Amino acid sequence: MDIKKKILTPQEIKKKLDDYIIGQNTTKKILSVAIYNHYKKITFQTEIKEQYNTELNKSNILLIGPTGSGKTLLAETLAKILNIPFVIVDATSLTEAGYVGDDVENILQRLLQKCHYNVQEAEKGIIYIDEIDKIAKKSNNVSITRDVSGEGVQQALLKIIEGTIASVPPQGGRKHPDQQCLQINTAKILFICGGTFDGLDKIVHQKIKNKTKIGFYQFNKEVQIPKKKNNFLKNIEPKDLINFGLIPEFIGRLPIIATLNPIDKNMLTKILCEPKNALIKQYQSIFALDNIKLKFTKQSIQEIVKQAILKNIGARGLRSIMENILLNTMYELPSMKNVKTVQITQSVIQKNNKPIIIFHKNKES
Ligand code: ADP
Repeated sequence: MDIKKKILTPQEIKKKLDDYIIGQNTTKKILSVAIYNHYKKITFQTEIKEQYNTELNKSNILLIGPTGSGKTLLAETLAKILNIPFVIVDATSLTEAGYVGDDVENILQRLLQKCHYNVQEAEKGIIYIDEIDKIAKKSNNVSITRDVSGEGVQQALLKIIEGTIASVPPQGGRKHPDQQCLQINTAKILFICGGTFDGLDKIVHQKIKNKTKIGFYQFNKEVQIPKKKNNFLKNIEPKDLINFGLIPEFIGRLPIIATLNPIDKNMLTKILCEPKNALIKQYQSIFALDNIKLKFTKQSIQEIVKQAILKNIGARGLRSIMENILLNTMYELPSMKNVKTVQITQSVIQKNNKPIIIFHKNKES
């Protein structure tokens, strides 16, 4: 079998991810390899079984990183690169006790809807489950006050994440006895779970401190206290996630763990300008449709970045800042004639001043 002819190589996948995602290099590498292996497994399932007499387990992925660091974007871009159906589900919507089973199947229904109820297509898709950390058990101590609702949802998700044949009603709505349901096999669906896991760094930090305290590091030089706070997460092990409140069986279904770095000033600047669909490029193309050039001074970009940092939601804050800055201009411009260029300066952002508007020469303005 010639795998390379049929599936993008990890390097090709990474290169395409680079077009859209700034930084997060190790995570992009981990994901490129995981995706390559996943689609190799499902494409050549029969051959692998016949030739090597082995079955490969699915490698679902857990992404850990702060808000707005690109977790959803990574999963979404992967689906786009591979041209496969993709849905985003919020784990917090799966918390209603008693309806857990239904809700979990709703995830599959949404995937089916995405590909017009073509089961074969849906079975190759990617499901991104956001805020997975919010279904952690609230306390890891076994006590009467223990919260079990999170654990219940984790249990419900186990089956579909690992691979099961689920029955889903054909065109939405709830199941009823006389209805012919669609059978969907989730064994090939790739699940990517993401969460911020606030407090996990403390758990990892404490673990490292304990190991150092008992002199462990003398035997194992690799265990050293990292200098930067976010570097603690590089030392994550499954047992830290158990301490956080995920159940071992659930963690077992997510064998690939990747962490994302917080978005810093430098990354924010690049995110604004560099990716294929960078916000600045998007707004420039909107203005270009009216034959108007939209320009940003270097200082104005620095100011936007400054405001985004204050919001403390990674790159997620950039869009609303841009909308605010450009709202009046986008409102007034279509009624103006002969506009050639709109230049956004620092004072537009700092003081809400009007941008500099340059008109075409020799024409009435
Ligand atoms: P998360 O899921 O980690 O909370 P998202 O992936 O939803 O964050 O990011 C929100 C938005 O911020 C994205 O749509 C994208 O525009 C931008 N963004 C975040 N991280 C990056 C990144 N590393 N590279 C490029 N854009 C990014």
